[in-house]
Amino acid sequence: MKGVCLLGSTGSIGQSTLDVLRVNPHEYKVTALTAHANTERLLEQCLEFKPKYAVIPDADIADKFSKKIASSDAADTVVLSGVESLDFVAALPEAEIVVAAIVGSAGLLSTLAAAKAGKKLLLANKESLVISGDLLMTAVKEHGATLLPLDSEHNALFQCMPSDYQTGNAAKGVRKLLLTASGGPFLNLEYSELANVTVAQACAHPNWSMGRKISVDSATMMNKGLEVIEASYLFDMPASKIEVLVHPQSIVHSMVDYVDGSVLAQMGNPDMRTPIAHALAWPNRHDSGVSALDLIVNNQLSFEKPSYEKFPCLGYAFDALRLKGTAPTVLNAANEVAVAAFLEEKIGFMDIPKLIDKAMTASTIKPADSIETVLNADRETRVLMNQYLEQR
Ligand code: NAD
Ligand code: MG
Repeated sequence: MKGVCLLGSTGSIGQSTLDVLRVNPHEYKVTALTAHANTERLLEQCLEFKPKYAVIPDADIADKFSKKIASSDAADTVVLSGVESLDFVAALPEAEIVVAAIVGSAGLLSTLAAAKAGKKLLLANKESLVISGDLLMTAVKEHGATLLPLDSEHNALFQCMPSDYQTGNAAKGVRKLLLTASGGPFLNLEYSELANVTVAQACAHPNWSMGRKISVDSATMMNKGLEVIEASYLFDMPASKIEVLVHPQSIVHSMVDYVDGSVLAQMGNPDMRTPIAHALAWPNRHDSGVSALDLIVNNQLSFEKPSYEKFPCLGYAFDALRLKGTAPTVLNAANEVAVAAFLEEKIGFMDIPKLIDKAMTASTIKPADSIETVLNADRETRVLMNQYLEQR
């Protein structure tokens, strides 16, 4: 049985991962589960999967949770608190596999810890690659970790890339990466209608059920922007070799365009259990619980260019990728603060790109040569963004 440490187990990806583990009960043993605030769900998960450790970074919440678990059937689970406990469980010798499914920059250090411990690292937390792409990829190489993308597009690209790309042959025969995007809930709205959309509308994705932050990112198409940066670092491709295609049906999860005219696509129902099962079982395959794709039912597959006017965040992400250094870190931090403010109904939907643009323009971009530089850029951008929000 392979040990699995699941960082962010109470979230959307966390729960889908546990669904896949349930379908393959003899393959995996859960070593650690971590959560931020949803202790009820964490308790249910501990009762079912009996992990060795449960981590809650906040000491007060962890303390209350410890008391609850001590009188339950999962009393053997050790409860840890403090953010450093996330790094500790990400490097446990008993866990061969680490699933990085915390949302936002809060997932950065534990993802890095798993890479440095040489784990089979299943990455959902795209923000960590955006924030510290070169540093994370270097850590993966230096410590012999295996990085497998869970993001559906990147998992699709991984499946369509030449099998030896990880040994330095990334560009061999590859003309372009074609990253598909659903276009989110506002694909067909006019520009003038976007200013007044509500939080509920932004969080209602047509094809995928996801956490609130990534749902808003999909609505602004910043999600696709972050994914362009993610793809660039993962597959060592420049911005000029990555193209975004709007594909509203979310059946083709992405494609690799080769110089001989071949285009390889990975298809499937839009269900995160497929990429999760693929990465868990890699290089083999096992069941995911997802039904077979019916191409007679899904017989309309269309593709169109994205609108950079309606979705300026996508353009900002390409800009940040071209600038490199701490530019993607600034982009990500500005986005996290803006999305949180939108979710709290403090700003409107179109204020998200406006504030990100303002922060990007005001920030000095430095080489991202150490984790301290990256964390500083992240902190400084948050301070700046909070000033903008207070001034309003
Ligand atoms: P979610 O909001 O549903 O879950 C987030 C998880 O992170 C929860 O377990 C929460 O407890 C934990 N968390 C939140 N803040 C934390 C903090 N400060 N410290 C420690 N833990 C914290 O999010 P999600 O939709 O599951 O997304 C998780 C990650 O996966 C994101 O990076 C997202 O971009 C990526 N992703 C998600 C999907 C999807 O379908 N949901 C698809 C592709 C990629
Ligand atoms: Mg995705």
